[in-house]
This record gives sequence, structure tokens and C-alpha cells, in this order.
Amino acid sequence: MTMKHPASFTTQGSCTLVGAGPGDPDLLTFKAAKAIQAATVILVDDLVNEEVLSHARPDARIVYVGKRGGCKSTPQAFIEKLMITAVHEGEHVVRLKGGDPFIFGRGGEEVEHLREAGIEPQVVNGITSGLAAVTSLQVPLTHRDRAQGVVFVTGHAKTGHSASEQPTDWKKLAAAARDARLTLVIYMGVSGAAHIQHGLLDGLPGKTPVAIVQHATLPAQRHVLSTLDRMHEALADSGIGSPAIIVVGDVLKGVGAASAQAERFGT
Ligand code: SAH
Repeated sequence: MTMKHPASFTTQGSCTLVGAGPGDPDLLTFKAAKAIQAATVILVDDLVNEEVLSHARPDARIVYVGKRGGCKSTPQAFIEKLMITAVHEGEHVVRLKGGDPFIFGRGGEEVEHLREAGIEPQVVNGITSGLAAVTSLQVPLTHRDRAQGVVFVTGHAKTGHSASEQPTDWKKLAAAARDARLTLVIYMGVSGAAHIQHGLLDGLPGKTPVAIVQHATLPAQRHVLSTLDRMHEALADSGIGSPAIIVVGDVLKGVGAASAQAERFGT
């Protein structure tokens, strides 16, 4: 076994992709907090609650790479270059992402690019917003009588010409959800809600319950309950916009009972 000279450790950088959770800073994991604490450079994505940065060292360099202030987001290639350069300079880089880094967070792409650059990153899970949004309604994603599984799906698929870049076939997905009794959890679906509703109605009954939850787990959280045949209308009436999660499925049949109970208890 070869031993490294102790000095070489100090110049050895690291990179950790960290999930910051859905919004509520109390939903950060201990492991995520520890990674933030150890970081010398933190690259912060959109939809990360800045309160989680209270765990950072005072001298950590914090770089916002999201769309803050109405600016266009930093190009992905630039962010990756920044990460790789910092690691090579011996920095302990944390790439902080909303929710979970591996659920629609481009975490997979970043891991591949880091590996190509000879860096083996660590990944720390976060609570994904799709899970938190449904839980915030006191509703489970699976239920022995109502849903045997769950699908996390993007409403905004990258579209291209190769077979792997086809937009989601909502009709097929609806048929699968009906036959296999699956809850659909749709990320980035607000702007395409009319199109999604149209496709899903080809395979699911119009009375299938729907919930749309915006700013889940944050003080600004709002939600609207509806049915699939009224989904887009209900969304427009509510004034709810992005970021929001659209949930479709019979698990939401429990939501009425929960809110009725909340009303009874005056909460
Ligand atoms: N990696 C993230 C998802 C990033 S994609 C995660 O695991 O949660 C961005 C989408 O996530 C948004 O368009 C929205 O659909 C959803 N989202 C993120 N934070 C949210 C929140 N607090 N409330 C509702 N939806 C949220």
C-alpha cells in the first residue's frame, strides 16, 4: 500500500452534489448540513432556500448559478467548468441543488462530466419536492388500497430527434397509471398543464383527483385541489404558477378528509 505525503491531502479537492430539500430548511439532512459545513466553495442553484447556507463556513465562497434577479441561469457547461477548476485548485466544492440532486436536477449529467475530468464526486440525497408536496397535504404517495406505485415525471421533457429525447407520451402514461394504479407526480408541469391534461384524459377518468402544490414546505405554500377534467381551469383560477408539483391519482381521495379534519380543529 502506498502512503500519500500528508501535504498532498491539503491540495486534494473534492466535489459533493448536495440536495438542499424542497424549501423548509429543517428538511435538510444532517449529512447535507455536514457537507455544507465542510465546503470552501458552494455553487447554489435556483430553488435552494438560502437559509441552508447558515451552515456554511464564514469564509466559504458562495456562487449563485441560478436565475436569481431575473437573470438568465448560468450555462450548465460553465458551471461544470467552474466545479472542475475549483476541485483541481484543491477546493472542497459543494454543488447545492433544490430537492434531490438526482431527481430532475441534472445531477446525473454533472457526475458524468466530473468523472470524465477524473473527479469522483459524492452525492447526498435531499427530500425531493414531489414527495414533500404530497406529504404537505398529509397524503401518502402510495396506499395499499389506492396506489401501488408512483411515477416522478417531468412535464417539460428535453425534446430532440433521438428516441431517448421524445416528449412524454401522456396517453400511454395515463393508461399505465390506470392499469397499474400509480400516482403521477409531475415536475415542471405548470406551463404545459393544458397539454398534459389533454393527454392524461385519454387514459384516466375525468374524475381522477388532482392537486397542484406551489412553494411546497415554504411559508408561501399554496395548493389547489381539482379533478383531471378541470385541472387546467382550476390552475388558471387559482393563479398558481411555478414552482409547483402536479399530483394525479386516487391517493388524493384522502385529502378531503384531512382538510375537513383541519377545519374542524380550526387549523
Ligand atoms: N431536483 C428538484 C427538482 C428540480 S426541477 C427536486 O428534487 O425537487 C424544478 C421543479 O421542481 C419545479 O419546476 C417544480 O416542479 C419542482 N419544485 C421544486 N421545488 C418546489 C417546491 N418547493 N414546491 C413545488 N414544486 C417544487
